Amino acid sequence: MKSKEKIEALRHELREHNHNYYVLDNPTISDYEFDVKLKELHALEEKHPEFYDSTSPTLRVGGDITKNFKTIVHEHRMYSLANSYSKEDLLDWEKRIQRILGDAEVLFTCELKYDGASISLTYEEGRLVRAVTRGDGFQGDEVSTNIKTIRSVPLQLKGDYPSKFDIRGEIILPLDGFAKMNQERLAAGEDAYMNPRNTASGSLKLQDSALVAQRPLDCLLYGIVGADTGISSQFQMLEKAREWGFKVPTIAQLCKTTDEVMAFVEHWDVHRHDLPYETDGVVIKVNSLQHQEELGYTAKSPRWALAYKFKAEQVSTILNEITYQVGRTGAITPVANLEPVLFAGTMVKRASLHNADQIEKLDIREGDTVFVEKGGEIIPKIIGVDFSKRPSESQPTQYITHCPECGTKLLRTEGDAKHYCTDFYGCPTQITGRIQHFISRKAMDIEGLGGETVELLFKEGLIRNYADLYILTKEQVMPLERMAEKSAENLVNGVSESVNIPFERVLFALGIRFVGETVAKKLAKAYKNIDALIATSVEELIAVDEIGDRIAHSVVEFFQNERNLENVERLKGYGLQFQLSADKLLNQTEILKGKTFVVSGVFETISRNELKKMIEDNGGRVGSSISSKTAYLVAGDKMGPSKRTKAESLGVPIISEQDFLDMVD
Ligand code: AMP
Ligand code: ZN
Repeated sequence: MKSKEKIEALRHELREHNHNYYVLDNPTISDYEFDVKLKELHALEEKHPEFYDSTSPTLRVGGDITKNFKTIVHEHRMYSLANSYSKEDLLDWEKRIQRILGDAEVLFTCELKYDGASISLTYEEGRLVRAVTRGDGFQGDEVSTNIKTIRSVPLQLKGDYPSKFDIRGEIILPLDGFAKMNQERLAAGEDAYMNPRNTASGSLKLQDSALVAQRPLDCLLYGIVGADTGISSQFQMLEKAREWGFKVPTIAQLCKTTDEVMAFVEHWDVHRHDLPYETDGVVIKVNSLQHQEELGYTAKSPRWALAYKFKAEQVSTILNEITYQVGRTGAITPVANLEPVLFAGTMVKRASLHNADQIEKLDIREGDTVFVEKGGEIIPKIIGVDFSKRPSESQPTQYITHCPECGTKLLRTEGDAKHYCTDFYGCPTQITGRIQHFISRKAMDIEGLGGETVELLFKEGLIRNYADLYILTKEQVMPLERMAEKSAENLVNGVSESVNIPFERVLFALGIRFVGETVAKKLAKAYKNIDALIATSVEELIAVDEIGDRIAHSVVEFFQNERNLENVERLKGYGLQFQLSADKLLNQTEILKGKTFVVSGVFETISRNELKKMIEDNGGRVGSSISSKTAYLVAGDKMGPSKRTKAESLGVPIISEQDFLDMVD
């Protein structure tokens, strides 16, 4: 092969590897192999300076010095975003938009608001020609040399890109990279950086691009301007940018209603701490580019976009100790025991650390000063470490390997977020946790018995599992701490009254992993009694609507355990309900007798098949087309207009999903 072709081939190959590694997060060769190829290319380029190319992967390592950053006027202004903090703000915004657009259907694309430094990249003929900071929105600093060292910024695009355009994004510093940078700085006796955002934006203005190249910066893109692309929507634009090689988070979601937008906001308000980088809100954009154009801009920001800021209340305090909690299913949750601090009106002493990954990602250690944040959740979370205050003798956190309650070796199965203690019947915390769950309000709702008494009864050796509750006597209970004749009587009565609790709640009370209230109801309805459920298989379970693999395996596993079966047998013997109550079974055959239903559209809380099954289970019939014999048309979302017209003309009542559910419940 000629040198020129060899160089071209290597450049092409290395670009692909960069894309796989830094954009797709899915490398296909080892770092070592990559380095070998990069060195080979470097050597060839040195020998043949005539084939210089400003987009060569060898230029990623930096080296060029920028003494003075050139001021560049943005060809298209970089706007700010209007802020909002509540659902009311969002609804007001929607109203304003709708007033301008008339009754056109408006869709929204929701993206996360990445917290870093804004950047505008200019591409010509698929090559990065310029990178400029936002500056004052009208003009910024050219930082191309530094940006080129960021591996996820493509220097050369792929696919059907337009010949010239600008793309906007955010330069960010992922949390794990930030933690690592700070570890190194502290080890070298330097001060730690305060937060990822400032460090990211500071990096852009470093004079030595080789230093920038060493920082684990990333670039997330969200908008194209100034191109005639044939693209018609924001959502499609994100997809296109992804195809051309840009890193565009796939979290973006197309929403039809403001309720869907709010659900997205609320979800990410809680889950943003699971992301590898910081975000400070959601950006909501009118999806249609045509609508965007009609809406235009105010003096400062587009009318077609809105930033919904997460509420961030933060304090910092010292993390004294990490302890570990064992849940009733054996799941281990690390807990941060904090130096108490006043926070949003309450004294905070503890914070959840979620799991081992979270501790590792943020590099959280005992003795650290940590930032604590209270979002939508009740339990505050640790969202970062103030590395500048880390004590010099600090050691990385070693996650526990054995159960703190019973000493059993912990297990973490692939795909599980948490470690588990597997000694289901030997681990005291799991035993009492399970009994406490059993008696809880939404399960057996046993009056006169509380969580502390369960612990006491267990400690005194009076109960070892929930079945034992049913053989407790007043005489056994009375001598216990804080018990008197009356309270002992109440307890025993409460237990014996619980035998009337319906099957679906008994099923929930058993404490099968992943079987919550709703799933228990589904299973009770589908199987009707415990023996059918015990005899079932994973395949059969999965065939039940909304029962997935994880739940199916857990149910089967539960009933494979001899001791679980033994407990169920005992509970049966004490008279607990292990089949659907007679009136429910009866309802299932009678209530809709002689009525034909037509079902159309998409439903919210149940699938169409499940709805049909419910009709049949309750004695009704499902028809395929509307006639004068149709009793009801159950209308979901996106129902065809012709069905509606026909029903109306024949006088067939049109009912909603909820109307139907009320009918059979
Ligand atoms: P602000 O600086 O608060 O006015 O917010 C505007 C800035 O948010 C823009 O300059 C962007 O750099 C930044 N931003 C982060 N994520 C996004 C996104 N997904 N869409 C639009 N802007 C974003
Ligand atoms: Zn244990």
